Amino acid sequence: DRLAALGARISTCRRCPRLVRWREQVAAEKRAAYAEEPYWGRPIAGWGDPEPAVLVVGLAPAAHGANRTGRVFTGDRSGDWLFASLHRVGLANQPTSVHAADGLALRGTRIVAAVRCAPPDNKPTTAEKARCAPWLDRELALLAPHVRCLVALGSIGWDATLGAARRAGWEVPRPKPRFGHGAESVLGGPHGEVVLLGSFHPSQQNTFTGRLTEPMLDAVLGRAAGFVDR
Ligand code: SF4
Repeated sequence: DRLAALGARISTCRRCPRLVRWREQVAAEKRAAYAEEPYWGRPIAGWGDPEPAVLVVGLAPAAHGANRTGRVFTGDRSGDWLFASLHRVGLANQPTSVHAADGLALRGTRIVAAVRCAPPDNKPTTAEKARCAPWLDRELALLAPHVRCLVALGSIGWDATLGAARRAGWEVPRPKPRFGHGAESVLGGPHGEVVLLGSFHPSQQNTFTGRLTEPMLDAVLGRAAGFVDR
C-alpha cells in the first residue's frame, strides 16, 4: 500500500546531517532508564488510521520518546497527554501509549510530525523544517480524499500544515490564519472543506505551567472527533 511505502521511504531519510547525527547519537547513548531497550533512532512515519477524517500534525519526535519507540508521540510525556485526551474524546481505544506493540488503535485519526527526526532541544532549524516538508506534502496527498479536519499542535505544526495545504493548491485564507489555542480556519481541499484547528502543543513546557490544561486539549480534540464517522 502507498502509505506503508511512504513510511518505509521516510524511515530511511538522511537529508538533515545534524538531525541524523543527533537521532543516532541519542540512540547509541540511551537514557539510563531505557538502557536495556533498543532505540529506533530513525525518522518517524505517520501512524494511525490509513483513511483518517482527522489528521493531527505535531512538531517533532522526542529524543527518548518516539526516537526510542519508533511510533509517533509514543513513550514520552507529550504523548501521555495526547493519547489520554484522544481516549477521553473517543478517538483512541486506550489512554496510554507505551511502546509500538501495546495494542493502541486510533479511530478515524492519524498522527504525523512536521519534522520527522528528533531535534536537539526539540528545536528544528528553518532549513530542517523546509527539508522535511515534502514528506508531509506526500502524506497529505495520499490522505486528502479522507481528511475533513486537521489539528495542528503548536505554531510549528500550524505553519507546516498551512504550508502543505498551500503547496497542494488548497484554498487557504489570506492573510494567513493566526495560530492560537482554539483557533479555527476553513481550508478548501480538493474534496471539499477541511477545518483546521489549532491547539497548544502538549509539551511539558505548556502542561507543567498550566498554559495547556486537560479540558483545553479535550475541547479541541473533542471538536475534531465530531468529524469522524459522519
Ligand atoms: Fe529526513 Fe525529515 Fe529527518 Fe530531515 S528531519 S533527515 S528531511 S526525515
